[in-house]
Amino acid sequence: MSNEHQPNGSARVGVVGAGQLARMMGEAAHDVGVRVTVLATSREDSAVATSDAVLLGEATDPVALRQLAKDVDVITFDHELVDLGVLEQLEAEGVVLRPSSAALRFAVDKAYQRATFLDAGLPVPRFLVVSSSADERLRAFLDELDAAPVVKASRGGYDGRGVAFPATREEALFDIGQMSARGPVVVEERLDLVGEVAQLVVRAVDGTLSFYPVVTSVQRAGMCAEVRFPSDLDEATLREAQGLSERVAELVAGVGVLAIEYFVTERGLLVNEVALRPHNTGHWTIEGVRTSQFAQHLRAVSGQSLGDVTPLSSYAVMVNVVGADEPGSLDAAKDVAGTFVHDYGKAWRPGRKLGHVTALGEEPTGPHVRAWEGARAYGTVTREA
Ligand code: ADP
Repeated sequence: MSNEHQPNGSARVGVVGAGQLARMMGEAAHDVGVRVTVLATSREDSAVATSDAVLLGEATDPVALRQLAKDVDVITFDHELVDLGVLEQLEAEGVVLRPSSAALRFAVDKAYQRATFLDAGLPVPRFLVVSSSADERLRAFLDELDAAPVVKASRGGYDGRGVAFPATREEALFDIGQMSARGPVVVEERLDLVGEVAQLVVRAVDGTLSFYPVVTSVQRAGMCAEVRFPSDLDEATLREAQGLSERVAELVAGVGVLAIEYFVTERGLLVNEVALRPHNTGHWTIEGVRTSQFAQHLRAVSGQSLGDVTPLSSYAVMVNVVGADEPGSLDAAKDVAGTFVHDYGKAWRPGRKLGHVTALGEEPTGPHVRAWEGARAYGTVTREA
């Protein structure tokens, strides 16, 4: 990774993957003095339109990754569908990955994440990791639960794919059998959720942490439908979240954005999962916070100091646009006054995240109404939360 060919002294950041997160990194890059090269699987990928350079290849291909490493100073990620073995090899060759492969393991491998958090004394759902439905510990574990468990593939799932909610113990054993053919399975208690919240913590190269405010995320069919700032937590639970986020960030120790999702339950907060990249629960920061999560991520991974994360309004609402059977109208969405409409430039497909709409305000109702009005006009399939 030489430092030659750096126009205007910009840091050169390579992004593995070219989805909407890389697209929004590309939009933020020039303001923070960064040039982005994406490793895309196709010229049609969302981030091709906003990046400075494009390399075609798979995220798991060592040859493509080595080529990317030659072109940039540091490599970061748009998603976690990576091969940790390949990434460790690259690090051994001197390639700078931010976050590191060791930190990424928390996002790639749910079994590792749950076990490491439990060992560290962090609150997590009761769980058991098995590699087959015949595991002898399974019967006793299922007997302990009040209801059928949630069954999760340890690796490879996102946006609710790789997560099953069986209705009965028999269905659970069937799901475990199916999923375990592809790798270890996390079997966990099905929680009665009061809600879900998330917090983004950004870690600079020198270990400095910057905390975005806690937000509420509203899920529909295993996907995030709406994000609200501020969260609906009381003061004591907010402090609990802040304390947990700091412990998780110190433990994971990744450079860049760490998104921590929490389950809110009657027995307090439990850590659901972490992502080491800009996250859907932080899209509102593009307009809602002085330094967006995309700018902050690029600042962190390129070795800069972190920016100011003061919110710019008292309330913010972001609604995802998830493709319905028929496309809606981007123009109609843009006509809704007081909204910021983001289109990811993707082909319309039912069930696909195609964009998002954000609205800000000084009271809670207006932003909620406007963001949903925009998302409905755009054609989201999700019903209002
Ligand atoms: P993904 O990695 O696909 O985002 P998650 O593990 O976050 O999967 O699960 C997706 C959603 O499913 C969560 O946001 C939550 O709404 C629900 N869910 C997951 N695990 C549980 C659980 N143990 N109890 C109740 N609901 C759950």
